[in-house]
Amino acid sequence: MNMVADLALPPLATIGAPLSTVSTPALLLDLDAFEANVSAMATMASKAGVALRPHAKAHKSSAISQYQIGAGAVGICCQKLTEAYPFVRAGIDNIHISNEFVGADKVEMAIHLARHVALSICVDHVAQVHAVGQAATAAGVRIGVFPEVDIGQGRCGVESEDALAALVDAIAQYDGLKFRGLQAYHGGIQHVAGWHARRDAAAQSADKAAAYVRFLEARGVRCPVVTGAGTGTAEFDAFSGVFTELQPGSYIFLDGHYGSSEWIGTHKPRHGLFIAATIMSSAKPGKLVCDVGLKGVAVDSGLPRVHGTADLHCSAVNDEHAMLKTSVTQDRLGERLLLIPGHCDPTCNLYDQFVCFRGGIVEDIWAIDARGLSQ
Ligand code: PLP
Ligand code: MN
Repeated sequence: MNMVADLALPPLATIGAPLSTVSTPALLLDLDAFEANVSAMATMASKAGVALRPHAKAHKSSAISQYQIGAGAVGICCQKLTEAYPFVRAGIDNIHISNEFVGADKVEMAIHLARHVALSICVDHVAQVHAVGQAATAAGVRIGVFPEVDIGQGRCGVESEDALAALVDAIAQYDGLKFRGLQAYHGGIQHVAGWHARRDAAAQSADKAAAYVRFLEARGVRCPVVTGAGTGTAEFDAFSGVFTELQPGSYIFLDGHYGSSEWIGTHKPRHGLFIAATIMSSAKPGKLVCDVGLKGVAVDSGLPRVHGTADLHCSAVNDEHAMLKTSVTQDRLGERLLLIPGHCDPTCNLYDQFVCFRGGIVEDIWAIDARGLSQ
């Protein structure tokens, strides 16, 4: 058998070429929308006097984080320890792991990261505090610690003042740890569709966070930072007087799920993330098949929408196919489409690159360098 050692793949896209030449499926980033979304959130945070620490799990790309920091973000959030590595390599020096972790392998990674960057982490059990506290103190590094309080999501986070007090006391035992404040995040309310209902839900959750802050203050413990908020509630949490730092991720893209929410405040993100697709089969009348399946679009928050045309609807998605229904009878084989994914985070995690475009031309290609890093 012949070995073909240098059979390189052709390029996915060429900078300066029209978008119509990009090989499909491809993940596209509309730079005009992206830049407007980044700037609107940064302006809002600065008007409210709160810090912006965008979540990197939405895009997993150090190029995007660098752009956000250039626009005023204080640092980034990562959800996983391995996810943080490409961002550290790219020179980002302030990272909050907005999630709990457990196990010797994870503690070792936290110490490793803390040697290179200002690192903070979340805890909701004293055993997590002791494990990281002992290792950080022995290694001579200092890690910021945020006990997480549950403000309604029912996921991670303590739900009693006693449990919170135990965490704060445990953190104080270690030279290698520093209590930084509280993490309070409620994912469930981010997608409340109605703007008023979302505003009221955010206010209720912020009240719960405020009660924990007051409890600690009464014990003589000040909370310099209260970090939380996502794309759906950032416009309310920013002005709540409770949160000092916002963690939205998806606002840069406005995926299909967020796009179906009501946005009647001053904060109105734009769709910026698309999947370029091609109709590659039209063998039966009224039925079209395009080349993006489950391996190219996450469907946990609904099937993708076809952008810019009212007569094409996605009805099902298989591994490598999306089935489309249409009332138009003409042969559409070879037609190119733009799909809006329902959920940006797991969709970005399926691609190696963003093909960035402006005005129909490929302007840049950005690596999704933390793609797949979930340990
Ligand atoms: N913070 C935490 C802890 C999260 O889990 C998430 C997302 O699930 C976010 C922030 C960002 O949320 P979004 O991408 O919806 O803005
Ligand atoms: Mn998400």
